Amino acid sequence: MVETLMDKIVSLCKRRGFIFQGSEIYGGLANTWDYGPYGVELKNNLKRAWWKANVQERDDILGMDCAILMHPGVWEASGHAHNFFDLKSDCRNCKKRFKSANLKDITKCPECAGSLTEARPFNLMFKTYQGPVEEAGNQIYLRPETAQGMFVNFLNILDSRHPKLPFGLAQIGKSFRNEITPGNFTFRTREFEQMEIEYFCRPEDADRIYEEWVGERFNWYLNLGVKKENLRKREHAKDELAHYAKGCTDIEYNFPFGWNELEGIANRADFDLRQHSKSSGKELVYFDDQKKERFFPYIIEPSGGVDRSVLAILVDAYHEEKVKEGTRVVLKLNKELSPIKVAVLPLLRNRPEIVELAKKISSGLKKSIVTVYDDTGSIGKLYRRQDEVGTLYCVTVDVQTLEDKQVTVRDRDTMLQERINIERLKDYLGEKLT
Ligand code: ATP
Repeated sequence: MVETLMDKIVSLCKRRGFIFQGSEIYGGLANTWDYGPYGVELKNNLKRAWWKANVQERDDILGMDCAILMHPGVWEASGHAHNFFDLKSDCRNCKKRFKSANLKDITKCPECAGSLTEARPFNLMFKTYQGPVEEAGNQIYLRPETAQGMFVNFLNILDSRHPKLPFGLAQIGKSFRNEITPGNFTFRTREFEQMEIEYFCRPEDADRIYEEWVGERFNWYLNLGVKKENLRKREHAKDELAHYAKGCTDIEYNFPFGWNELEGIANRADFDLRQHSKSSGKELVYFDDQKKERFFPYIIEPSGGVDRSVLAILVDAYHEEKVKEGTRVVLKLNKELSPIKVAVLPLLRNRPEIVELAKKISSGLKKSIVTVYDDTGSIGKLYRRQDEVGTLYCVTVDVQTLEDKQVTVRDRDTMLQERINIERLKDYLGEKLT
């Protein structure tokens, strides 16, 4: 069987500890994934890069971390309680459930050729109960997007921080959708993480600010090292837009399974603040004290997925290169994202003085640079392992190091090696990594 690029990536993720099947020892829970030691570092680095660019480096955006469980009234006002559904058809024979949009002209069950029910709406929100009594009055939902937490805190932000328009709120957190057809590894799952910005502005500035955000978000992926040819913008046609939306552009990535959405940037007009004002009885308006005007700001929403971005970055970074020894697999992650920056390796693991010195160098570096120590294989094997997880530099301690106090530093991408004095090592690597 030919191994596809996706097969190779899924297998590398498992073999090296990036992403594992959820509940695997029980046969797995379909479409759930657990991030392992390298996966969590990569994901955290990605979230940190987003937070830094969108919150810490800007004066106009404030961070939040809202609850996943919200008052059921929120989902009535937002429209999710009644409009957040996909159409599904069930097979009368094998009982499998299909998303109607995926069936197109198919009239029989794709699995067993049984007859299909009419397409029926299926709400994508996960339901649960709050408190010990499972009755309708206690039913709540797991949030299907992080956005609503930011809309409902609009007044708290105005009263506590007094921001002037335009300003934004930003949040990273888990969301849940009972997708009918999850799949393609971590691309579509029922539990996932989002990175969302709600950017409030004057209605007359909304078109311009929307365009600026589309450009800004596209460039963010480029700056993370995603190849330009694998990224594109796709503007939604009028009939694709939600009834309240004035415009929407998706940033798409060329995944091995086709071009698919990484992030959507939408001009939501004043729909959200109006709806929550009507439903809650609280006026979610902005007062412009110079113009003495009170109005509902428009909202521009760049909404991206953490898991989808991590997947795109893994696909983009995956390289196979012909080398003397055969094929080298290397993850060319950029320096901000690489889970491990430096690995310290002893050339001979049966020489205690070499092992001891390598461990000492590693613990010295750890305080300022994410470093690992590894002596569990031959040097060739150790290099291969570090290449596969995208480690930027390998530092090797050999017999000569004991005499000349120099180590070999190997660059992941060029594989060039340089001898560096141990005293200078921290500064040398520090410069390379900033
Ligand atoms: P799709 O059309 O792929 O279902 P969507 O347009 O419904 O996505 P949005 O509601 O715009 O998605 O959500 C914003 C972002 O959240 C998406 O661009 C994506 O990165 C992420 N996302 C949404 N649903 C999922 C999911 N089921 N699994 C993983 N990420 C998701």
